[in-house]
Amino acid sequence: MTDLTNHLPTAELQALDAAHHMHPFTANGELAQKGVRVITRAKGVTLTDSEGHEILDAMAGLWCVNVGYGREELADVAARQMRELPYYNTFFQTTHVPAIALAAKIAELAPGDLNNVFFAGSGSEANDTNIRMVRHYWAMKGKPTKSILISRKNAYHGSSVGSGSLGGMSGMHAQGGLPIPDIHHINQPNWWAEGGDATPEDFGLACAQELEQAILELGEDRVAAFIAEPIQGAGGVIVPPATYWPEIQRICDKYEILLIADEVICGFGRTGAWFGSETMGIRPDIMTIAKGLSSGYAPIGGSIVSDEVASVIAQGEFNHGYTYSGHPVAAAVALENLRILEEEKIVERVKTVTAPYLKEKWEALVAHPLVGEANIIGMMGSITLTPNKSTRAAFAAEAGTVGYICRERCFANNLVMRHVGDRMIISPPLVITEAEIDTLIARATTSLDECLAQIE
Ligand code: PLP
Repeated sequence: MTDLTNHLPTAELQALDAAHHMHPFTANGELAQKGVRVITRAKGVTLTDSEGHEILDAMAGLWCVNVGYGREELADVAARQMRELPYYNTFFQTTHVPAIALAAKIAELAPGDLNNVFFAGSGSEANDTNIRMVRHYWAMKGKPTKSILISRKNAYHGSSVGSGSLGGMSGMHAQGGLPIPDIHHINQPNWWAEGGDATPEDFGLACAQELEQAILELGEDRVAAFIAEPIQGAGGVIVPPATYWPEIQRICDKYEILLIADEVICGFGRTGAWFGSETMGIRPDIMTIAKGLSSGYAPIGGSIVSDEVASVIAQGEFNHGYTYSGHPVAAAVALENLRILEEEKIVERVKTVTAPYLKEKWEALVAHPLVGEANIIGMMGSITLTPNKSTRAAFAAEAGTVGYICRERCFANNLVMRHVGDRMIISPPLVITEAEIDTLIARATTSLDECLAQIE
C-alpha cells in the first residue's frame, strides 16, 4: 500500500478508490465522478494530500486527533507492544498489562465513582455495550421492565444497529430498519433552529423538561436511562443553553434514571476539561469514550461505569464482549496518548490559553454577513449560516446547500471545516497554536466571502 501511495499518480489512486472502496456516509457514485482527495501524510494540525496541498485540519480527523498528527512516541509504543504481545483476549479469566494499566489510568482521570472500564473497539460498540448493560443492570436489580433508553433527536451515538437507534438522525433511521424497540427520542436543545420566540434559557428548560414528560408518559418503571452528548457534536456542535443540563440532572436524580454521557467527542480535553460532563456540571453513571482516548492513532472505545452499576453487573456473568475489547496495542497507544495529554498539560493549555484565544476570534465571525450565531466551548465550535440574522431564517435552498458550498470553498482554501446542514463546525487538534488559529480564521473568512459571492 505504501508503494501504491508513493508511486501511483493521483488519478490512478482515485480510479482504484472509485472502483473498489465504499466510503462511509458518502454518495459513492457522486464521489467517483468528482474524484476523491487522497491524504498521504500529516504532522501537527496539517494534512498533506497526494498533490502536495497542505491543509489545516480544523476537524482533527473525525474529532479525534487530540494530540495532533505525527507523534513518534505513539508509533514507538505500538511497535513495541506488537512485538511483545500483539494480541490476547480478556474473556476467559486472563488479562494483560496494557488493559490493566489503561483501565486504572482512566479510572484515575474520570470524575466521581466512575472507576470501572468495559473496553470496546469504537464509540458505536461502546454504546451498544451501554444499551445492554443498563437493561441488564435493571434486570439484575429485579426491575426487568426498565428497558427504555431515552435519547434525543439529531443526536449521534454511532452507526451500529444499536447505537444508530440510540442516535436520533432521521437520515439514518430511514435506512436499514432502525430504530430497534424501546428507544425513545425527545427534542434537542437547538435554540437557533427550534427555539422560536422563547429565550435560550426558557427554551433550554423546556427541552430538559421533555425528559420528565417522557418518563411520566412511558412510565417510570419502564425507563432505564437517558443518554446524551454533553455538547452535541455531529448534530452541529449545539451548545445547550445554561439551564439545560442542571434540569436534566435533577430529573435523572428524581426518577432514578441512569444518566449516560456520551463523551466520545467531548472526552479527553475537547471542552477544556478532561470530560465534557465536568464542563457541564453533571454526574453521569456511565460515560461512553473513544476518539480522543487514543487520539485516533488506534481504534479503541469503552464505557466508564460507576461503582454502583459495576457492582451490580459483577454479581453475575455479563454475556457481552468484543474480540478487540482492551486490545493490547490499542490500549498501549491510548495509555501513551493519555501520558502526553497529561504531561504536556495539553488540557490545561486549551482551557487557559488556546480556547480563550480561539473563542474571541471565532465569535467575531458573527460580524460576517452570512453568519447568524457563533457557538464555541473549548475546541469545538459552530457558526450558523443564514440569509437573515434577526429572524434566524433558513435559506430558501434545500438545507445544507449553502453549507456545502462553504465547505467546498474551505477545502479549496486548504481548510477542513465540516458542514452539518447550514452550520459550519470545527474541532481542531488540541495542540493547535495561536498562529495556526489565525490561519484557520483567515481561511474561514475567505471561504465565507467566496461562499457569499457564489450565492448572491
Ligand atoms: N458517540 C459520539 C458522540 C460520536 O460523535 C461518535 C462518532 O462520531 C460515536 C459515538 C461513534 O463512535 P465510532 O465512530 O468510534 O463508532
